[in-house]
Amino acid sequence: MDYRGLFEDAIDTLRREKRYRVFADLERVAGKFPRAVFRDAADNAREITIWCSNDYLGMGQNDKVITAMQETAGKLGAGAGGTRNISGTNRPLVELERSLADLHKKEASLVFTSGFVSNEAAISTIARLIPNCLVLSDQLNHASMIAGVRQSGVEKKIFRHNDMAHLRELLEAAGKDRPKLIVFESVYSMDGDVAPIKEIADLAEEFNALTYIDEVHAVGMYGPRGAGICEREGLMDRIDIIEGTMAKAFGVMGGYITASQPIVDAVRSYASEFIFTTALPPALCAAARASIDHLKQSSAEREGQQRQAQRTKEILGAAGLPVMPTETHIVPIIVGEARGCKAASDMLLEKHNIYIQPINYPTVPKDTERLRITPTPLHNDEMIFELRDALLQVWDQLGLPKNIDTSQLTAQALNSGDLVLPTIGG
Ligand SMILES: *Cc1c(COP(=O)(O)O)cnc(C)c1O
Repeated sequence: MDYRGLFEDAIDTLRREKRYRVFADLERVAGKFPRAVFRDAADNAREITIWCSNDYLGMGQNDKVITAMQETAGKLGAGAGGTRNISGTNRPLVELERSLADLHKKEASLVFTSGFVSNEAAISTIARLIPNCLVLSDQLNHASMIAGVRQSGVEKKIFRHNDMAHLRELLEAAGKDRPKLIVFESVYSMDGDVAPIKEIADLAEEFNALTYIDEVHAVGMYGPRGAGICEREGLMDRIDIIEGTMAKAFGVMGGYITASQPIVDAVRSYASEFIFTTALPPALCAAARASIDHLKQSSAEREGQQRQAQRTKEILGAAGLPVMPTETHIVPIIVGEARGCKAASDMLLEKHNIYIQPINYPTVPKDTERLRITPTPLHNDEMIFELRDALLQVWDQLGLPKNIDTSQLTAQALNSGDLVLPTIGG
């Protein structure tokens, strides 16, 4: 067996399909976000502007957050020293879990090493513990949720994205008596659209289903205290399990669920992904809590983000660029094919010192390849105009289309049967 050749072939397939991923080597500079130092393949360094960060509010460089991390590391050391069960449960982690439960007004919360792990562990454990459970899963759910559903081994049905008539149909077919778990997201990260949470909660009540929401792209950013879309709409108590991350708007790392005490205790007690791994380090937990606590009482970052996202949409749209309309902070510019999308991203970086990672199939459906722009409160107006001018030049030089009907794009691509594949996304 030619093992080396086998892996080379696997990589060649990705290259041929224009899906081979190249990572940008970045050195973020505290206090200068969204500016950073980029190094090319020859290690030549230069300063660029990041326009695709999930550090949505710049909290990764917030003074309180950095200080909490430094001071805690100084006092408590670097690592946790064990799994949660065997000596790793540290004081800042306990305080972080309390703060998260308070954020979502739930009885308890549980912290994991990442949002990915929290979805995989919680969905699979909860579904497994419910006898004869049927999982109803939104078509565009994140790879980590799909992993959780798969790993549970229970029967699943996929409902068309945000399609309440289809969800109702599936619930009716299952009947009121069969136990059911509905899993979905609040903000979908690629199209920036929002789930009809109230309708889903109503259906869940009518058909006796449990509800699980991923608020990863909403926590910190929506609601008066930054608890997400459920908080903004007054629906936190109508969703059974709320999952989030500390790695995006909170700017640090780690994932969590919040729910009733018995649900959290069951996941704590049964999920291997939680039990058999080392606890998060105290410094990281203290930093995450500083960020969460800050955003509970400060809306300045949220307002700044909404304002700059709106400005970006208006300025790029007015320039005739194919901006996909969204109701959130996510600003997708449609290219519509993989090669052009990658070429646009390369040219932006090489000629304009602007970094936007291309998003291609299978993360998004074919024909909807895009540049996904995420303005933060720290992207000022001058940067937005720079971005506009750079995009216009790139569109011109590459002959990319401007007259794409972006309003119907995703729905069309999805209806053509080009489902997002779960395994390679992200
Ligand atoms: C990023 C993401 C996750 C995973 O969160 P991490 O903390 O980065 O592991 C989960 N769900 C969604 C929808 C995401 O986009």
